[in-house]
Amino acid sequence: MYTARNYIKAESLAQAYELNQRRANAIVGGGCWMRMGERMYDTLIDLSALELDQIQDRGEQAALGAMVTLRQLETNFMLDKCFAGLFRKCTEHIVGVQFRNCATLGGSVWSRFGFSDIVTALLALDCQVELAGAGRMSLEDFVKMPRDRDVLAWVYIKKDGRPVAYETARNSETDLPVLTCALSRHEGTYRAVVGARPGGPRVVEDRGWDRLVEKVLALEYGDNMRGSARYRRHLAGVLLKRCKAELEVTGG
Ligand SMILES: Cc1cc2nc3c(=O)[nH]c(=O)nc-3n(C[C@H](O)[C@H](O)[C@H](O)COP(=O)(O)OP(=O)(O)OC[C@H]3O[C@@H](n4cnc5c(N)ncnc54)[C@H](O)[C@@H]3O)c2cc1C
Repeated sequence: MYTARNYIKAESLAQAYELNQRRANAIVGGGCWMRMGERMYDTLIDLSALELDQIQDRGEQAALGAMVTLRQLETNFMLDKCFAGLFRKCTEHIVGVQFRNCATLGGSVWSRFGFSDIVTALLALDCQVELAGAGRMSLEDFVKMPRDRDVLAWVYIKKDGRPVAYETARNSETDLPVLTCALSRHEGTYRAVVGARPGGPRVVEDRGWDRLVEKVLALEYGDNMRGSARYRRHLAGVLLKRCKAELEVTGG
């Protein structure tokens, strides 16, 4: 469990950013990941007074604040309707309801874990992030960046109506995934995302299904305690086919 000398509820994003520039300080989201470590922080920076716990329907896009919990993502009606149940499917296996009531979108996206169900699912959509310092950029660019001292404030998703599907394989119901897979189709182009390889998610696009499958199978897969590279490559083919079957049901 971590410890901290001070706790500050930030009054503005600018203040949170400034405080976070010190390496001894840290933003705290739900604290679910941080509590697994033993670090001693100087100051914990809480964003909960900044109205970032909102899921907003802004017409052509959905705006999700960094302090939105995984449970909010899972149960939000607008998200469920606009993104074909994607957020329900990518959250429902993450530990349990009490955990998902604490863990945040900001903590999940900022951490860029290779196994992240959330990042894999978001990458299948037209998605941008807004950082207090660096401003707005695509999620795809953000996940390639090294972790720095910036503060993630919002995630924006274009409501372009693309069909999207999500599948994972797990050794047991609430364990970390052995492989994550999302698939969408927009303007005739398939977009597949494969994560937990066990490295970070990879995005592959193609207009042709057979070429897309070839590209997904050609990705680099690795071994860890949850599965071998060979097993993961096999799973990638299976999960991709399942996603395609789901897309066909929703008109993709
Ligand atoms: C036991 C366990 C099992 C898990 N299983 C899964 C799983 O199956 N699938 C999955 O996708 N995820 C899984 N996770 C990850 C989990 O869903 C969250 O991603 C994780 O807990 C981080 O969210 P948090 O709100 O708790 O972040 P915190 O623990 O509060 O923070 C994590 C890190 O992010 C930083 N941070 C938080 N918010 C911001 C922000 N707005 N801006 C900048 N930096 C920020 C913190 O400083 C810290 O370094 C698991 C986590 C645990 C502990």
